Amino acid sequence: MAKKQFKTEVQQLLDLVIHSLYSNKDIFLRELVANAADAIDKARFEGLTNPQHNREWAIRIEPDKDNKTLKIIDNGIGMTEDEVIENIGTIAKSGTKAFLKQLEENKNVDAPELIGQFGVGFYSAFMVADKVVIETKKSASDAPAVRWESTGSGSYDIRESAKTEPGTEITVFLKEAEGLYLEDWKISEIIHRYSDFIAYPIIVPHVTVNDDKTETVEDKVLNSQKAIWLRKPSEITEEEYQSFFAHVSHGQGKYAKAIHISAEGTSEFKALLFIPEVMPFNMFMPDFQKKGLQLYVKRVFITDECKELIPDYLRFVKGVVDSGDLPLNVSREILQDNAIIGRIQKAITGKVLGELKKMQESEPEAYKKFFKEFGKVLKEGIHTDYTNQEKIKALALYETMNTPAGDTVSLAEYIKAMPENQKDIYYITGDSRAHIESNPALELLKSKGFDVLFMTDPIDEWVMQSMFQYEKKSFKNVVKGEFELEGEEKDAAEKLIADAKEKFKILTEKLQKKFDSSVKEVRFTSRLVESPACLVGDEHSISPQMERLFKAMNQEMPSTKRILELNAKHPLIEKLQSMAADNAESAELDMYAQLLYDQALLAEGSPIEDSLAFSKNLAKVMLKSLD
Ligand code: ADP
Repeated sequence: MAKKQFKTEVQQLLDLVIHSLYSNKDIFLRELVANAADAIDKARFEGLTNPQHNREWAIRIEPDKDNKTLKIIDNGIGMTEDEVIENIGTIAKSGTKAFLKQLEENKNVDAPELIGQFGVGFYSAFMVADKVVIETKKSASDAPAVRWESTGSGSYDIRESAKTEPGTEITVFLKEAEGLYLEDWKISEIIHRYSDFIAYPIIVPHVTVNDDKTETVEDKVLNSQKAIWLRKPSEITEEEYQSFFAHVSHGQGKYAKAIHISAEGTSEFKALLFIPEVMPFNMFMPDFQKKGLQLYVKRVFITDECKELIPDYLRFVKGVVDSGDLPLNVSREILQDNAIIGRIQKAITGKVLGELKKMQESEPEAYKKFFKEFGKVLKEGIHTDYTNQEKIKALALYETMNTPAGDTVSLAEYIKAMPENQKDIYYITGDSRAHIESNPALELLKSKGFDVLFMTDPIDEWVMQSMFQYEKKSFKNVVKGEFELEGEEKDAAEKLIADAKEKFKILTEKLQKKFDSSVKEVRFTSRLVESPACLVGDEHSISPQMERLFKAMNQEMPSTKRILELNAKHPLIEKLQSMAADNAESAELDMYAQLLYDQALLAEGSPIEDSLAFSKNLAKVMLKSLD
């Protein structure tokens, strides 16, 4: 026998489970039954190629009131000693750390629900147990059976077991106060609620007392085992949908929309898909990205790691696909480049995008809520799915200069509201609305009544590289490239700029020299109304936010030089010019120039290099103006 210590993270998790999770303890049984079903799925998959390993698949639940134990027994794949240690004792999944962080930050009542989501379901047994024993024997293997035991504090014992049948038997030694889980009605209620559709019989011993006082024990199957995705939508209750969603999403809360697909013809498959209501915490973690929809072939579970069933940008969709075309013994490798899977993906993509469109049209508020959660994932498709690009563009929503914070419009709505003299679709990217909305580069557009799309997701700038046009209108970044007006306005602006170049030559040269290391050009613009200056980039330059983002990810990144644009009509520019004409090297002019540049940085939401110098200069200027 060996005594082993839990890894620190596992122990922290166990402590939390034991001491802080009180709500909805029922889910421990759901999790253990789900693990049992997964184990049978795996054994059954193996049985497809080695039929001699097939057996009558079943999950048994055995309450023992005398000993206050509850056993969950499966005849699935089982585990070797190494696997037990790897899976149960020392798991180092990326999810565990994130789960702990979430729990600590939220301390919310839904914490037990998070357990399934983070793939640490087994530990939930310690919500109700003083001690848990696992006896397991690996299927189709000579490896000796293993017995694992722990009270959940610090360590576990592991040794050989006498178990002879393949599969896993979990014995939960219930805490004094948890006797409820030995009651038939309670077990039956939990199985009904969470595990009804599990494809294997979940059996409890049913005892009847005969007239002669003897007892008869019979097997009683608790679940209907009906594959919900094969049933008619009209016959499925809300509760059944919800519990199936809890199963396929590992307890991700509620779903926003259920989508049935029953495809016939070139490709025959059934699918039941869900759009969740909220984004799961692990959406951007590798564990999540590895999993896809669950693939069944003629009701036999094949895998939940067939990423090819759905494009990445729809990876928030959860559910089941059951193909009638694939062979049962399909290998995971074959799935990766398979024409049948390709056709299924195409059909699913079309259907999901279609449902989203419908939702956008008939339930705009619900759609806005959906987009808030998953928009940044969906938008990836504009860049990656050329075929459906136009459809995805139509689904995109953005805040704009004219919408109240938090509210959004579609591109079609934006275009509809455009004044007649507006030609292009204007947009600006940035970290947040607060940073963007005070950018001086918006001033002229605002005064002309043009609206501007606010793009605040880090992914937006990347997506815009493929946006090109929408309904034949081009996209124009407000802070990139030269700003151009139309017609008469254009001529007037060009003249103003040409004159300014001459008039403010000394000042421009002074500024160019002073900021040479960070500014590639000082020029005049017509995009400013109230502000004296702003910073912009070249047509194809990367924005300062993007640059900061890359640097934060430790990517080598040369600093992009900016363009400092001046407002020729601003009195400050006149004043600075005459100061420069007097003495271009004066300390005072230096200070003003620095302030001018720093406030342009602040206005676009960028940090200033020397904030101490900035405050000192500002104090000097205040004193002066108060004299
Ligand atoms: P998850 O099931 O989400 O991966 P768990 O903590 O519930 O997380 O289980 C950890 C791992 O232990 C499982 O992935 C599986 O490999 C193994 N395991 C748990 N229960 C069983 C079982 N009944 N039979 C075989 N393996 C199991």
